[in-house]
Amino acid sequence: MIQINEHYTEIGNNYLFAEVARRVNEYKGRNLDKKVISLGIGDVTQPIVPAVIEAIHKATDEMADAKTMRGYAPDAGYDFLIHAILKHDFLNRGIALDADEIFVSDGAKSDTGNIGDILGKDNHVAITDPAYPVYVDTNKMAGRKIDLLPCTPANDFVPAFPAQTPDVIYLCYPNNPTGTVLTKDQLKKWVDYALEHKALILFDAAYEAFISEPNIPHSIYEIAGAKKVAIEFRSFSKTAGFTGMRAGYTVVPKELTAQTSKGETLSLNALWKRRQSTKFNGTAYIVQRGAEAVFSPEGQRQIKEVIAYYMENAKIIKNGLDALGLTTYGGVNAPYIWVQTPNRMSSWEFFDLLLNDLQIVGTPGSGFGEAGEGFFRFTAFGNRENTIEAVERIKKIKN
Ligand code: PLP
Repeated sequence: MIQINEHYTEIGNNYLFAEVARRVNEYKGRNLDKKVISLGIGDVTQPIVPAVIEAIHKATDEMADAKTMRGYAPDAGYDFLIHAILKHDFLNRGIALDADEIFVSDGAKSDTGNIGDILGKDNHVAITDPAYPVYVDTNKMAGRKIDLLPCTPANDFVPAFPAQTPDVIYLCYPNNPTGTVLTKDQLKKWVDYALEHKALILFDAAYEAFISEPNIPHSIYEIAGAKKVAIEFRSFSKTAGFTGMRAGYTVVPKELTAQTSKGETLSLNALWKRRQSTKFNGTAYIVQRGAEAVFSPEGQRQIKEVIAYYMENAKIIKNGLDALGLTTYGGVNAPYIWVQTPNRMSSWEFFDLLLNDLQIVGTPGSGFGEAGEGFFRFTAFGNRENTIEAVERIKKIKN
């Protein structure tokens, strides 16, 4: 008899965006003449920048020549990319990491999901609520106990320490979906908490490139002691439009350790290396060359222009919603605007209203967790024209 992992029955069938897509497709099927604008799923719309495209073309040509073609990539990434990451993302911020603490991958979704492979099933996990659904779903798949840490206007979206001390804590800042951030002092409190309680922080910094204000940490390793307690996830998806190209990386410091049930201390870096070399065969050479070009001076200038374009969209959305008297959060250091639904509507009621009356798609806050009920997420990743049109349409809502 074939047995399934029964924890899969606990997560339900519908991934949030699948349900959004289902409702949108159903609407479109009934309203073929209507132009639906999506400010929903966090996917990019602007083309990949020329410096990256040039590097990809060059790498493709290398693949056409026996003298320069590459086969399997190193499991943890090519040195040329790892060195660019170390210099640009860390050394320039005063953080020294070793090359073998960086693990290049096909993106942060895989890594935030797969990291559970090296963690025991009995770990008690704390996850901010609302959150990127992968954290909760993958821990449920593994059968771990989860404590949710509500992040609401009442606590300024800064989670309180949980009643029961967790072993593993997921933090994502700048945050998806709320678009809010932690200051250095606020993040330091979590690092100190983890040091004191011997907990592991899984820090998702996928939106680091969107930070515009000073005193907001781009990396958790800006905080003293974090290398002893934190793994950090990064992504080229939103930073450089790689959602379809697939590249990210994870930092697992060698100082980071965890215990076996017998009390033996092991290195998480060694375990992750073992996991990746067994289950992952490297990110495509061509893509890694593209990622390397993100760090070139032209690449940096060009991606900053694209990020500024998205953040101008964020401003347009935020200002439009604020002018309507709605209460908004985020949109300053992150490409997401988190808005309180009008008239105490539920998140899905507001979704249906926007879709049916205004042909606008956003993401219901409740899809990111219970504490997201009564909220709604707009993304700044649309093109300018659609963003402006969507805001004009939203102005028709009667408050
Ligand atoms: N982490 C967060 C918080 C995200 O919002 C996303 C994508 O939306 C990811 C990770 C996944 O990124 P990637 O495209 O690198 O898999």
